[in-house]
Amino acid sequence: MTFTLPPTSSNPSFNPSTSPSSDPSPTPERAPRLTVIGTGYLGATHAVSMAFLGYEVLGVDIDPRKIALLNEGTVPFFEPGLPEKLEEALASGRLRFTTDLDEAAEFGDVHFVCVGTPQKLGSEAADLRFVDSAFTELASRITRKVLLVGKSTVPIGTAERLTALVQQISPLGAELEVAWNPEFLREGFAVQDTLHPDRLVFGVSSPWAEDRLRAAFEPILAEGTPLIVTDLATAELVKSAANSFLATKISYINAMSEVCEATGADVTQLAEALGLDDRIGSKFLKPGLGFGGGCLPKDIRSFKHRAEELGIGAAVAFLGEVDAINIRRRLRTVALIRQVVGGDLTGVRVAALGAAFKPDSDDVRDAPALDVARMLYLEGAVVSVYDPEAAVNAHRVYPDLEYASTLDQALADADVTVLLTEWEEFRTADPVEMGARVRSRTVVDTRNALSPDRFRAAGWDYWALGRPHTAPVPVSNRSESVLATLDKSADLPC
Ligand code: NAD
Repeated sequence: MTFTLPPTSSNPSFNPSTSPSSDPSPTPERAPRLTVIGTGYLGATHAVSMAFLGYEVLGVDIDPRKIALLNEGTVPFFEPGLPEKLEEALASGRLRFTTDLDEAAEFGDVHFVCVGTPQKLGSEAADLRFVDSAFTELASRITRKVLLVGKSTVPIGTAERLTALVQQISPLGAELEVAWNPEFLREGFAVQDTLHPDRLVFGVSSPWAEDRLRAAFEPILAEGTPLIVTDLATAELVKSAANSFLATKISYINAMSEVCEATGADVTQLAEALGLDDRIGSKFLKPGLGFGGGCLPKDIRSFKHRAEELGIGAAVAFLGEVDAINIRRRLRTVALIRQVVGGDLTGVRVAALGAAFKPDSDDVRDAPALDVARMLYLEGAVVSVYDPEAAVNAHRVYPDLEYASTLDQALADADVTVLLTEWEEFRTADPVEMGARVRSRTVVDTRNALSPDRFRAAGWDYWALGRPHTAPVPVSNRSESVLATLDKSADLPC
């Protein structure tokens, strides 16, 4: 749903005593002008989506390259559907990008801060330098009553600390308010998740701040999106708690995978049986190489660190184990590949399929796939990495790995093929055709994303952690007709 706003609406005249619940449908004239500070994965998507919904938006970043690209209509990262929306939003005249914070302070009624909160070097804590800098730099330029809204994921207590800080800095003093609006978008589905989130959370200190946020999300709220209005601390905690829960569920099934490996049980069947229990559910219960990316790993570490600072470390000490199980997946995967090739990886040609931390993203931050590829390389394997979108980012992190530009190129003469990120291209690739490229038809499916039956029918030796290994049926005649029959029979239900 799109609603059109008037050309400008700066400095709207609000009645701070008006309760939002008594005025649930703000008129377009009350719609705030928005800035988005930090235009990375989260910020660029937020800026584009809000402009698409009809708001006037100014995106700000300290990286001039990113700003130049966005202004010319190029999304600096891979996100399905975002380029089209960016083009549309720029054409509407409602969206611009700048590096000029003075301009942003002048322009915005509601400022969304979306800068990064990476893990601190040498610590599990979040590095809040970027958040602190964005809030204080902005606050020092604010001369009228506006709302500063954090969307970045931060440790509990950050918003309260920032409130004191910005009120000290700003000429507005105690009149300057901070709110927190945690973001739950998933890379790969970022546009859909931003335009149609499953819930909105507003952490506010006053009815005025709630009203401003309601005005900033009016079209989304009008769709009936559930809204939780709460205090600053709870809003911060919702994000940490949600990510911790998801990480725990993934590590839980991966811990069960370890049990399966020791006992000969099959973790995929176990996960299916558990997932059919309504109380458990099948989402995030997929055994495999574990989680990575720019959020889950650093968020659970930062949550644990913050809890220890608060003297309640015991409450979330289990997150240390969740993290350890997750990291163990990478080591066990390397151990399995070593075992599969006979105990020594030296000189073994590995086709590494995937580098991104998950499909439909080019994000390689803390990517399990790249970690495994790198460990194999360090053990002497000749690793050819192919990822449909993440090769450039991966090369930046690990320039010493070999990068193939097609699946076929990666597979050429491989001794072992390792599925590391479950891109559609890999899940749907024909095992018969793949088999024709490699030296040895040995596949390790670290994501439980391939069909063992189809691969075995095409003569592959199929391996996965947490599943019993079955010796392959040798394929004596690899002519097209025989292989086509095998392929069809493999599609039959077991
Ligand atoms: P990112 O690294 O892609 O983007 C951060 C951007 O902020 C960069 O472009 C950087 O140049 C810019 N920046 C840094 N300091 C700045 C400043 N002072 N002023 C203006 N710009 C500045 O990070 P991201 O993935 O977009 O994540 C941002 C935050 O959102 C993090 O806290 C993350 O945990 C959270 N988050 C991310 C996602 C996601 O899917 N990526 C989802 C939910 C929440």
